[in-house]
Amino acid sequence: MAEERIGIIGGTGLGDALLEHITDLQKEKVETPFGATSTPVMMGTLSNRKIAFLGRHGQGHTLNPSRVPYAANIFALKKLGITTVLASGAVGSLRDEIGPKQLVIVDQFIDKTFRRQNSFFDQLGAVHCEFDQPCCFRLRRAILEVTSQSESVVHGKGTYVCMEGPHFSSRAESLMHQKWGGDVIGMTALPEAKLAREAQMCYALIALVSDYDAWRPHPAGKDKHDLLSEIIGNLNEATANAISLIKAILQSDLKLCSDTCVCRKSLEMAVWTKPEAVDKQQRKIMAPLFI
Ligand SMILES: [Zn+2]
Repeated sequence: MAEERIGIIGGTGLGDALLEHITDLQKEKVETPFGATSTPVMMGTLSNRKIAFLGRHGQGHTLNPSRVPYAANIFALKKLGITTVLASGAVGSLRDEIGPKQLVIVDQFIDKTFRRQNSFFDQLGAVHCEFDQPCCFRLRRAILEVTSQSESVVHGKGTYVCMEGPHFSSRAESLMHQKWGGDVIGMTALPEAKLAREAQMCYALIALVSDYDAWRPHPAGKDKHDLLSEIIGNLNEATANAISLIKAILQSDLKLCSDTCVCRKSLEMAVWTKPEAVDKQQRKIMAPLFI
């Protein structure tokens, strides 16, 4: 049987760069109950696998992290029948040992966002999904199998602090995030991962380290322009590493989609509203998420 289509959500850096590698590109405009997606979904082929690509920040990087239509993006991919999502995002490092240009296969999150829609089901009823293991264990294991042969430095796990932004952390906040157990900090993985869980999808995140976060003072003598061009250079290199990794994952003969994965049954026990009290119209609208 042919392998199913894999969803890829490209964050800062990866958005435009990955598109150049995709062949048979076709734009797909998908209607969702949550409005338009960040970009039309780009259907195509990458490393001999069928994929559907979305640039999280929109064409020309117009959407700041608070304005990304996370619900529309995840709903659209699920409506297209996609059950496995590989996402990427730029992060700052909270640890000495996680250096710029390196990659982290995130396994945990701390959610500090506060002005984003974080559930599909506000109008449907009380829906509580498990999130103790927020990224798909099976998909992460598959990625780690590939990274063991990778030339770039890839950290096999890490806790991602997701802040609202758009401003970066103060030094005091950055030091607090370290004490909380954060390894990297970014602005976009949530509520995306939570919505993917509500949509019964397998979700994994590759974090691209652009620099050290505010806990570490900048080296003396470097002006703002030098620092910014260094960060952009780091991000470009991390992006190239992430593209090689994504291609290697897709090229491998690993099974990336599985309907028996625990993520694919996340709604099974999650609807706490009594069946007779669930809003029937909403249940119909949200039907693609229950598949
Ligand atoms: Zn899974």
